[in-house]
Amino acid sequence: MANIIDGKAFAAKIRSQVKEDADRLIEKSKVEPCLAVVLVGENPASKVYVGAKTKMAAECNIKTKDYKLNDSTDQETLLKLIKMLNEDPDTHGILVQLPLPKQIDERSVIDAIAVEKDVDGFHAINAGRLSIGGDMLNKAFIPCTPLGSLLLLKDNVDDLTGKNAVVVGRSNIVGKPMSQLLIEESCTVTVVHSKTKNVESICSQADVVVVAAGRPEMVNGDWLKEGAVVIDVGINRIPVTKEDGSEGSKIVGDVDFESASNKASKITPVPGGVGPMTIACLLRNTVTSAYRHAGLGDPRGTVDSESQDQYKEKYINH
Ligand code: NDP
Repeated sequence: MANIIDGKAFAAKIRSQVKEDADRLIEKSKVEPCLAVVLVGENPASKVYVGAKTKMAAECNIKTKDYKLNDSTDQETLLKLIKMLNEDPDTHGILVQLPLPKQIDERSVIDAIAVEKDVDGFHAINAGRLSIGGDMLNKAFIPCTPLGSLLLLKDNVDDLTGKNAVVVGRSNIVGKPMSQLLIEESCTVTVVHSKTKNVESICSQADVVVVAAGRPEMVNGDWLKEGAVVIDVGINRIPVTKEDGSEGSKIVGDVDFESASNKASKITPVPGGVGPMTIACLLRNTVTSAYRHAGLGDPRGTVDSESQDQYKEKYINH
């Protein structure tokens, strides 16, 4: 039976470090880290995410400014708001909650955010820096879900060097940046997607499997090598019939937890795995941005620039 990777506890640890870093900056430089959160429309899931981000930011002494725009907002209005936030010296991070309504082109909006305030790490320049890797990572913001997944992996695998890693999914938000982070860690990386042939047999050779497919419980134990480490990024709400016969729903990942647990050595649960890490990493990126804006070095370095021992000292034993 696999050990469960407790993302909730690890995220709490990261948030407490973020709070320490924020407090130190406020005390020494009188700079209050500030995240602008822009929500366009009424998407219920987006509202929940934005609410959770705002609450946890407050717990870390990160100020938030909320901008709620209605569903029919046009692109020009949103771009004007972003320009204002780009120019505001007190704003260190800008988050535009995705998805955006149909009349707005997401890529134009993301690339309008100042690169040095793009704490989601979706700007083309931040994506390019991640792709180049090495020292470029010191300037980049790394997308929060893959960064959180990597931190969980580094906490659970002694040395990723040379490991066979399979990433299921190639989205710009999760799959692609995840594969680049694993390449930086010297894994041998295979990315599979909906057009890949023999996905199961490719997964079955992996030491590390990161799944971000948006397909409820798709990856099961038969797909896995004995002892694999499994990171389940998926968040899917599926219908269930309750004991009393009424209809309800529950959240599951992209991995069939029960069968996968019988093969894997370590596995993230859903909920309670990658999900909490995403918000923790967003807050971490925001405080990093505030340090950079204050002319200071990153409070915790980058995932790339440290040896495993230094990394553990800073992130885990801290
Ligand atoms: P996307 O829909 O953008 O991408 C899904 C990827 O999975 C695509 O590349 C797709 O391939 C691939 N895929 C789909 N079906 C299969 C299949 N049968 N076999 C192999 N690959 C397949 O999703 P996201 O990357 O945005 O999100 C993935 C999951 O992660 C979702 O469940 C989402 O809810 C969750 N998520 C969780 C977050 C968190 O905080 N924990 C944050 C962000 C996302 P193709 O490119 O060919 O279409």
